[in-house]
Amino acid sequence: MTMRYISTRGDVHNSPKKTFTEILLGGLATDGGLYLPEAYPQITRDELDRWRGLSYADLAFAVLSKFIDDIPAADLKALVDKTYTAAVYCNGRSPEAAQEITPLRWLEPGLGLLELSNGPTLAFKDMAMQLLGNLFEYALTKKGEEINILGATSGDTGSAAEYAMRGKHGVRVFMLSPHGRMSAFQRAQMYSLQDTNIYNIAVRGMFDDAQDIVKAVFNDHAFKARYRIGAVNSINWARVAAQVVYYVKGYFAASQENDEKVDFAVPSGNFGNICAGHIARMMGLPVDRLIVATNENDVLDEFFRSGVYRPRSTAETHATSSPSMDISKASNFERFVFDLVGRDPAVIRELWARIDAGGSFDFTNTSYFTDLPQFGFVSGKSSHADRLATIRQTYEKYGLMVDTHTADGLKVALEKRVPGRPMVVLETALPAKFEETIVEALGRPPERPVAMQGIESLPQRFEVMDISVDAVKRFIEQHAGA
Ligand SMILES: *Cc1c(COP(=O)(O)O)cnc(C)c1O
Repeated sequence: MTMRYISTRGDVHNSPKKTFTEILLGGLATDGGLYLPEAYPQITRDELDRWRGLSYADLAFAVLSKFIDDIPAADLKALVDKTYTAAVYCNGRSPEAAQEITPLRWLEPGLGLLELSNGPTLAFKDMAMQLLGNLFEYALTKKGEEINILGATSGDTGSAAEYAMRGKHGVRVFMLSPHGRMSAFQRAQMYSLQDTNIYNIAVRGMFDDAQDIVKAVFNDHAFKARYRIGAVNSINWARVAAQVVYYVKGYFAASQENDEKVDFAVPSGNFGNICAGHIARMMGLPVDRLIVATNENDVLDEFFRSGVYRPRSTAETHATSSPSMDISKASNFERFVFDLVGRDPAVIRELWARIDAGGSFDFTNTSYFTDLPQFGFVSGKSSHADRLATIRQTYEKYGLMVDTHTADGLKVALEKRVPGRPMVVLETALPAKFEETIVEALGRPPERPVAMQGIESLPQRFEVMDISVDAVKRFIEQHAGA
């Protein structure tokens, strides 16, 4: 069967279906929707039996082959092997530990932490972004094309993107960040990169100012086409697909045999990570429940409890101590709602016309709300005080320091776990990235991986700019061959 992709807002009769490589370099579909497979490929019982025990790279090849059928198998295998190798996920660990890529650490019987943060930027985003870097380079080289990736970051996504794209042929990255507003560590992570295809632009403003510049450049269609401007944001389908793999790996690690079911708890912001869990479950992976954990920005928790989806304004969005989950709306959520409403793009168009106009929707008295439980979602939220308490308890009880986002996941997981069912909490970052809150919770800083020690004193490369769309465009013109 060939794998084709459709848009959540597509007209079934008029929108052409796409192949994987056709959607790889893009973001939104032209109709404003998000891409999904026309039908979810299924994992058979026989496959589960054969896959148990595979290495991460071999498993990733098996899973991704179900989504990618327009890259020759030998090439895909080579790309996956190069991505999921101990050398990239070593992070100061022994070669044996690094070999596992995503080891499961049991905190106590039935409660495990799936380590996803041993990549170059110490956050789970590396898991997918590193693959994206290799896929982009492969696809661009084949076509003899180039891409100029433009993005805005408040920290995590930008650094994951830069570390994935550094030195890649055919790729340049222009990453905007708010001048003086990231932690010294985050600045050092990004600005100390000396690769000539990476450009850091520090904007004299807030994250939203940087984000607005990026949107303005994307809206200049002529400029966008002339300079082949692209994005690597969390709605990119390849990122979601790559994330499906660690649910399968985590399932095998947490279960003894394939009749068992496992629950996953996921610190959530843009719903990208847990959307991959939803897809793994739809593919037939024996996942019972998917626990959505939010921080004070509880748009998602509110939906799963009440059936009301009400994105917040920027003014209503809280700056919290788990900043990578500070979202006003969850950009990948549309993918799940598409499945919930029976994959009817007309319904999605109608719902998102309201959302895009700053409104909300309410499923309370609809059959969609009655259907919701069959998708396995359960949700909860946490506050700054909860986060501190969880970090303390985890350290006292298990001798382990967890980061603030993982703490949010752990807090909700502990509330929702049921006896006899393994609960796997996804670790989304290492505590070294969020030193300040760890010191607040424990009175001492987290250990830093050896490779990251003293990075604040390395020479930095970045350009400071006013909040000006024209200045950013001129900079791109000067550095990106048209
Ligand atoms: C991005 C991020 C999240 C949220 O993931 P989503 O895919 O946006 O739901 C959680 N924790 C950390 C550390 C992150 O970087």
